[in-house]
Amino acid sequence: MAPSTASAATHTAQVVASRRCGPDAFVMELEVDRDLPDCRPGVFAMLSPADGSGPVLPRPFSLYDLLTPTRLSFLIQELGTGTRALGKMSAGAEIEMTFPLGNGFTLPAAERPVVLLAGGVGSAPFLHYARQRVAAGAGDRTCYFMGGRTKDRLYDHQAFLDCDITTQLSTDDGSYGFHGNVIASLDSQRLAGKIPADALYCACGPAGLLHGFADYSREHKLDAQISLETYMGCGFGVCNACPVPTQPDGPLGAWPWARTCQDGPVFPLTSIVF
Ligand SMILES: Cc1cc2nc3c(=O)[nH]c(=O)nc-3n(C[C@H](O)[C@H](O)[C@H](O)COP(=O)(O)OP(=O)(O)OC[C@H]3O[C@@H](n4cnc5c(N)ncnc54)[C@H](O)[C@@H]3O)c2cc1C
Repeated sequence: MAPSTASAATHTAQVVASRRCGPDAFVMELEVDRDLPDCRPGVFAMLSPADGSGPVLPRPFSLYDLLTPTRLSFLIQELGTGTRALGKMSAGAEIEMTFPLGNGFTLPAAERPVVLLAGGVGSAPFLHYARQRVAAGAGDRTCYFMGGRTKDRLYDHQAFLDCDITTQLSTDDGSYGFHGNVIASLDSQRLAGKIPADALYCACGPAGLLHGFADYSREHKLDAQISLETYMGCGFGVCNACPVPTQPDGPLGAWPWARTCQDGPVFPLTSIVF
């Protein structure tokens, strides 16, 4: 599978569809005029409206789904100027897109169980992950924990339920699925003996969730990778706006900083100080 940044290119992509999937989020499908590389889940794109209606700097978004060799989608939560500008783009509008960027999650051999864990739009990298596991015949060894504050913030969850993997939904307010956060949901399944001991764990979501998951992983000695959503300016290693401290004895070595855009956004927990 292609390493991402090395094969990155800038495209003028056309919006083919944009649909709401919650009070503050949407799924946007884009079409480009050349084949995209087949890339790992967890890679991202820098996106901005081509008509200049967004901020000067493009914004980073994880690949949500690779629908055809020339069509891909993104799951986007509206937060500020950049995401609101993208939310206004409808079919026919053009988006500047640099893709694929970053390293992505590890996809282990099909025999190895994988646990995916997401909060809110942290689910974005995991639809492509789920599809790759199903294509590899590993859907029955893939368990996905998806959490939201409320039912309507389980963004586009039907897409995951339609995949041939095990999906556990949870809401903080108990309005749907397990009542509690996604780590409590995972813990209940682990305690019930439903998660094999040799599973690889992959997580993405807001910083609070990732910190909670990092503590949980260390306590239970899980083999875990997390995808960080650190602010970034360029997306390809030039502006140095997205440093993350590394563990001197971890796999990234002695240099005290890694760049989230180029060395990440996915990091083994053992590689960073988090
Ligand atoms: C590698 C990567 C992948 C990402 N993938 C997705 C994705 O698939 N879907 C998605 O919806 N979002 C994703 N994000 C986050 C997304 O890039 C930000 O939400 C977006 O840049 C906000 O831009 P804005 O102009 O709308 O907000 P701004 O106007 O820049 O900020 C609005 C508010 O949001 C806060 N904010 C902005 N960016 C972040 C951030 N990264 N973390 C925490 N708070 C922030 C600001 O502090 C401010 O309060 C990703 C981020 C990274 C680094």
